[in-house]
This record gives sequence, C-alpha cells and structure tokens, in this order.
Amino acid sequence: MKTIHKAYRFRLKPDVEQCRQLARIAGVCRLVWNLCLEQRKVVYSSRRMPLNSYKQIPEVTKLRHEYDWLREIPSQVLQQKVRDLDVAYKNFFEGHADFPERKKKGRSTDSFRFPQGFKIDNRRVFLPKIGWVGFFKSRDIKGEPKHMKVSRDGKHWFVSVCCEVEIANAVPKSKAAGIDMGITKLCALSDGTVIENPTCFERYKRKLAKLQRRLARKKKFSKNFCKVKSKITALHTRIANTRRDFIHKATTGIAKNHGLVVFEDLRIKNMSKSAKGSIDNPGRNVRQKSGLNRSILDAGWGEFRRQLEYKVGWANGIVVFVNPKNTSRRCPVCGHTAKENRLTQADFVCVNCGYADDADVNAAVNILRAGHARLACGEIGAVRPLGEAGTLKAA
Ligand SMILES: [Zn+2]
Repeated sequence: MKTIHKAYRFRLKPDVEQCRQLARIAGVCRLVWNLCLEQRKVVYSSRRMPLNSYKQIPEVTKLRHEYDWLREIPSQVLQQKVRDLDVAYKNFFEGHADFPERKKKGRSTDSFRFPQGFKIDNRRVFLPKIGWVGFFKSRDIKGEPKHMKVSRDGKHWFVSVCCEVEIANAVPKSKAAGIDMGITKLCALSDGTVIENPTCFERYKRKLAKLQRRLARKKKFSKNFCKVKSKITALHTRIANTRRDFIHKATTGIAKNHGLVVFEDLRIKNMSKSAKGSIDNPGRNVRQKSGLNRSILDAGWGEFRRQLEYKVGWANGIVVFVNPKNTSRRCPVCGHTAKENRLTQADFVCVNCGYADDADVNAAVNILRAGHARLACGEIGAVRPLGEAGTLKAA
C-alpha cells in the first residue's frame, strides 16, 4: 500500500453573510501575501538576506494582536498564505513558474487553506470563523481529509477537500509514451494517438470574440461595460471548467496505460507568453495562435503536465523531462536533422530518406527516444520525485 494525496473539489453554497466573510478572508490573504512578498523583496535587495515563512509568520501573528480586523481571520489561514509564498519561490527557483506576483483584487485567483479546525458532515463543511457551509456533493470523498482549500472561481466559491488515500501498490505498466504538446490539438503521443481539443472551444472562441468587440465599444466602467465584462468573466470560467474536465479524462487515460511518460522540458510560462509553436520552430502558426486562440488553449499545457505527473506517480510510473532541442526536426529513421524536414505545419517529410509522418507524432517519437536515452544514461536528475505532487501548490 502507498499513500497518495487526492483533492475533491465541490461548489459551496454560502449564504449572503458567509459570502461576505469568505470575501473578507480572501482580501486579507491578498494583503498578507502582498506585504510578505514586498518585505522579501526589500530585505533581499537591501541586505541580500532571503526571508521565509519561519521569519514572517511570527510577524503576521504580531500584527494580529494589534489589529482587531485581522483577529477575525483564522490565524492558520494567514500562516498558510505565507507558506504558499515559500512554495511560489521554490517553484520559481526550480524553473516551474514565474516570480511570484502581487495579488490583485478581481484579477488574481482568490484562495486560502485551512490546515485544521474544519469538519465535514455529509453535504456540508465546517470552516473556522465561518460556520457550516453546504456544498454540491458530486462524488464521495475517500480517505482522510488533511486540509481544505477554499477558492473563488468567477462568481462562485469552491472547496477542495485534500485527502490522504491509501492505494494498492500498482505494478507499473510496460508501455512508454513520448508526448508532444500542441497548439491546435492538445497533444500527440508517440504511438500515433492524437488528442484533439474539445470541439466546443471553437464556439467559445467566437462567442468570446463577439463579447470583447462589444466591450470595446462601451464606455469604460459604465453600467453596460460592467455587464459585458461579467459575461466575459463567466465565459472564461466556463472555458476553464471544460478544459479541466477534458484534461482530467485525457490524463487519466494516458496514465492508466503507460509506465513511462516523456515530456519536453519547456518552461510552461515561456510557452504561453509568445505565439511561438516551440523552441525549434518559432513562429509557426503565429497569427492563428495569437490573441483569443491563446487565451483558450494556453493554460491547458501546465495543467496537463501537472495532472499527468501525479497520476503516473500514483501508478508507480515515471515521468521524464527531456531537452526539446530538435525534437520536431529530427528524422527518427536516418537521424537527419534539418528545418527543411518541416516544410508544412502538419507534416514531417525527411529530405534525406523520404520518411514521412504526422509532424506532432514524429516529435513525440523523438521525445520518447530522448527519454529512453536519459534513463539509459542513468541521469536521475531527469526524473522528478513522484507520488505526492499535485495537491499542495501555491495559489
Ligand atoms: Zn530520414
């Protein structure tokens, strides 16, 4: 048996007063995050001294003794927020994320965690200082709840119940897959499988474009402006939900059948920042991808890899990251590497031996080979520790 962490997410049903309290906690959490971030930056630039939560939590506690309005917020929640900043710094230094940013009201995702003091009773949860809040119970919770995360998504509040679950020690699957993340499609696998994006994305894209054109014609911050704006926010939430569900299905399928999964080691943020297709092939599809298309397709990549990493880990498999250099240009048959092998976006045709394949599948094959090579060289650094990833991430 082994222990894994699993999160169950439900929509909360807070009443008006509880909504107000949740918003208040979220506001103070933003403030604490911003203050601590600012302090770290200042102390580091003036004294070259890195700060962490061990030094900052006592200061937050001190502030709580001074201000009544701070005392109304559960202290554990504020401490967790400071610890989230540690995680954000760590992710930055390990190259998985950008440097932590200030949190802005209405712009950043609001979330906070309760490490203790909560209770669950069938269809409601007890949150310290807030009380019992009902939720839409869409599935059964298995395992022992370890902490709870509350977050706001559009207009609604959600609770994630993070549990420790015992699972049987699985025998790793023998199949291996290289994965090439796409732009017009979600990804291609080295065995030739191509996973397309959900078809509804096209419809959402048109709708989003229409709303944004309408927004551009409105007077800023007028009543009609706000109306359209909130419609856009709601649509973004719907897109995000659809994408998450879709990615869950895709990653569960891949993790179920593969004991080894190989990815390109690209910084997620780098990929989504510009309209470039990949490091090898900059600028492919630039016009199509820029703008709206991007806002719909982007965020999926990081989430896809994150989910696959922990799901493969649950099944005792391995995830390997490889250098993305030349993966889309190399011929897997003769090894000839040239940008002429990729005259079109969709096809790979080797100018040396004539081998042809779907361009993305070809890249996936190269990625898988690179993964095998790394493992054969015994490069342990290629493999990230698995099994516990997935639930405890900075908000
Ligand atoms: Zn060739």
